[in-house]
Amino acid sequence: MLVILNKMVNKRDLETLLQIIESNGVEFKETINQGERILILFNEIEESLSRRIEENPAVKSIKYIKQPFKLSSREYKPETTRIKVGNVIIGGSEPVIMSGPCSVESEKQILEIAEEVASKGAHILRGGIYKPRTSPYSFQGLGVEAAKWIAAAGKHYGLPVVSEVMEISDIETLNRYVDIFQVGARNMQNFKLLKELGKINKPVLLKRGNSATLNEFLMSAEYILCEGNENVILCERGIRTFVEYTRNTFDLNIIPAIKELSHLPIIIDASHATGKCELVNPVTLAGLTAGADGFIVEVHPRPKEAFSDGEQSLNFAQFSQLVEDWKLLKGPVLAIRRNKQAVLKQAIG
Ligand code: PEP
Ligand code: MN
Repeated sequence: MLVILNKMVNKRDLETLLQIIESNGVEFKETINQGERILILFNEIEESLSRRIEENPAVKSIKYIKQPFKLSSREYKPETTRIKVGNVIIGGSEPVIMSGPCSVESEKQILEIAEEVASKGAHILRGGIYKPRTSPYSFQGLGVEAAKWIAAAGKHYGLPVVSEVMEISDIETLNRYVDIFQVGARNMQNFKLLKELGKINKPVLLKRGNSATLNEFLMSAEYILCEGNENVILCERGIRTFVEYTRNTFDLNIIPAIKELSHLPIIIDASHATGKCELVNPVTLAGLTAGADGFIVEVHPRPKEAFSDGEQSLNFAQFSQLVEDWKLLKGPVLAIRRNKQAVLKQAIG
C-alpha cells in the first residue's frame, strides 16, 4: 500500500501516523515520487488499520497496488513516463533512435560514427567505456579517456550520450560525461549499484538480465525509483533460451506486457538480442511495431575490425537502411498507437 502524505504536515500528526504504522509491525520506506511524499508499506494490512492511517490528518490518500512492483506500475501511474534528455523525449509520441559502437575505440572512431548516425537521424549516441565482457581476456574498454571522447563527440553533433556504468565508484566520474547511465544485463540485479543510481537525477537505461522474468526486471527498476530517481528507461535485449543460432532470444512479448503493466518507457536492443547483424533490422522493426519507445543499435564503420561485438554491429549502409525502413513503417505504427490510445481513453470515460 502507498500512503501519500499532504504537502503541509503537522509534525505531531506525522509522529502519530508513524507510531501507528510502526507499532503494528509494518515496515515501510519513505520516498518522493511525482512531487508527492509517499510511504511505501511493505506488509499487507487489515482494513481497520488502513482506515486509521487514512484518517490521519497528515495523509492525503492511500493507494492499494496489487502488483509487487509499486512505483513502476501503471496501477500507480496511468500515463507513460516521459524522460527528457537534452531535446530528446523518451516515452513521448515518437520512438527514439540510440546508436553507436559497442565500445569507444578511439577519438577518431567515435567522431566518425557520431557524425554518421547524427546525419541519419539518431537522437542519442551510445558507446561503451567500461565493458562487461564474458571473458576476462576480452577487451575491457578504455575507461575515462574514452568517456571524454564520447562526451565531446556527442556535444559536437548534438547527441546526448548513453554509456554503461559497472561500479558505484565510477558513477561520480561518469556523471561528468554521460547523459544517461546504462546498467547492463549482467548488473540488472546489482542492487547496490541500482540504489546508488536511484539517488541521482540522471536517467538510467536498465537492461533486462538475460534470464530475468518480467517481475524481476520491474523490481530492479523499483530499486532505482524508490530511492527517488523517476527516470528509468527499460531495455529488452534478449534472454537465454535453448536457441543456439542466435546469441539470445528477443522477447517480443515483454514489450506489450510492460506497456500494460508499467508506465516506464521500454526500448529494444536487437544487436545483443540476436548477435547477428543481418537479423537486427527485422527484429528492431518488429519491436517497434509491438510498441517499443525506441531502439538502441550497435553501429561500426568497419564491423570486422570492431574491438567488441563486430558480428552484431551494423555498418553505415545497414544503419541507413534500418532508419529508412523505420521511416516507412513509422506512419502506420504510430497511427495504430493513436487509435489504441483513443479507444482506451473512451473506455476510461
Ligand atoms: C552493451 O550494450 O554493449 C552491452 C554489453 O549490453 P548488455 O548488457 O545488454 O549485454
Ligand atoms: Mn555490445
